[in-house]
Amino acid sequence: MSYVQGDTIVAIATPPGEGGVGIIRLSGPEALQIGQSLCGQIPSGSQPWPARQAHFRRFYSPDGLVIDHGITLYFPAPRSYTGEDVVELQGHGSPLALAALLQACVKHGARAARPGEFTERAFLNGRLDLAQAEAVADLIHARSEAQVRAAAASLEGVFSNAVAAIHAQLLQLLALVEAGLDFSEEDLGAAHDIAIHEGLIALQQQLQQLLLQAGQGARLARGGRVIIAGRPNVGKSSLMNALAQRDAAIVTPVPGTTRDLLREEILLDGLPIELIDTAGLRDSDDLVETEGIARARQILHSAQLILMVADAQTGWQQDDQIILDELPSIPKLLVWNKLDLVDTLPEAPADASACAISALTGLGMAELRAQIMVRMGMDHNVWAFSARERHVEALARAGDKVTEAGCLQKAAGHPELLAQSLREAAHALAQVTGKIDVEDLLGEIFSRFCIGK
Ligand code: GDP
Ligand code: ZN
Repeated sequence: MSYVQGDTIVAIATPPGEGGVGIIRLSGPEALQIGQSLCGQIPSGSQPWPARQAHFRRFYSPDGLVIDHGITLYFPAPRSYTGEDVVELQGHGSPLALAALLQACVKHGARAARPGEFTERAFLNGRLDLAQAEAVADLIHARSEAQVRAAAASLEGVFSNAVAAIHAQLLQLLALVEAGLDFSEEDLGAAHDIAIHEGLIALQQQLQQLLLQAGQGARLARGGRVIIAGRPNVGKSSLMNALAQRDAAIVTPVPGTTRDLLREEILLDGLPIELIDTAGLRDSDDLVETEGIARARQILHSAQLILMVADAQTGWQQDDQIILDELPSIPKLLVWNKLDLVDTLPEAPADASACAISALTGLGMAELRAQIMVRMGMDHNVWAFSARERHVEALARAGDKVTEAGCLQKAAGHPELLAQSLREAAHALAQVTGKIDVEDLLGEIFSRFCIGK
């Protein structure tokens, strides 16, 4: 990407509200001039500020009144977050003073930044690749420590470097294939063929492993959704409380108390999971209950797992079967509850895998939690970095193309098609880090950032 000579943008970089420190950030060719004007200096008559040094200065409004005082920092291009001249004014965390400073910057010629515009400039100027820029947003929006660690790893380039390494191997292999295009099979000999074959297999394995990791990274960044379904009184609310480990849902012995979807966000080994207790999915004349059921059905379809709760004491009943039959085709785990009340487990419906717990005493809960993680496709040993659905799709496309290349090689006689498949695989990989063909995505990606980042 080429360097973008843009206008100078400004934003309040600290969160809204009162705080100890409030930071105004400027980026662009006029950042220094505007910063100096704000500090009452005449830019044309002043020395540029020394790079990367903190100085204590007063901040003035355009009509010469002191608005605040604090620290100024100047990061000349290209060694700055955005790759452009960046100036930071660190004053007090007063929303009104910050608003006045922002206005003063605009008066002096800066434009209020859009969400994510600083990071977008960092990407366009090659300071970060696209996967790293996305990791910045994931770090800011992280909801668990595991998410923080994963996003930080992506920001450090763990994911990007893995993609780049595979990309480089792909290009080497492509060069090997292209070198053979002008020769006949006999001229090249078996060694050439074997080298390509082995290269393809190595690539397939690496892509598969990276796809697995990225899939988990994406799940970790996005979180999951688990539905708790079952007849009234089987212990759905109790299970939800046991998973959430606090009294979020109302537990009462009266059937049908849960009038609406109860949602609770929990962390299961760092994975944020939205737990949804359904309204019992029961036909009812009660209007409120019916409304709850309609909403429950909509949301059911977006979950990754359904915990079908049944009462171990009453055993599997016709009503359980009716509910089970109505559930959408999403992975399900049958959970026998009230294990504390029985000595032996009742017979489960055919081909359902089951787990047994007591939501009341906590019996079997550790195993259930572990089961949920497995069903969500999470494996501790694998998640190394954060990723997004976009990355997972691109890696899958690259994997498909490499597999296609493998088939073409086996069929033999179409080296130009093989080369084309490899080129397409390389193209898909380059989209992850944003080296090519991502212009259309940028607006969508950066608009979801905070302003000032
Ligand atoms: P829901 O209607 O499916 O949400 O069921 P609740 O969670 O409201 O529970 C219904 C009743 O069963 C309540 O009286 C709970 O205390 C009781 N209950 C729930 N789980 C257990 C359990 O594991 N063991 C026993 N003995 N009672 C339970
Ligand atoms: Zn309930």
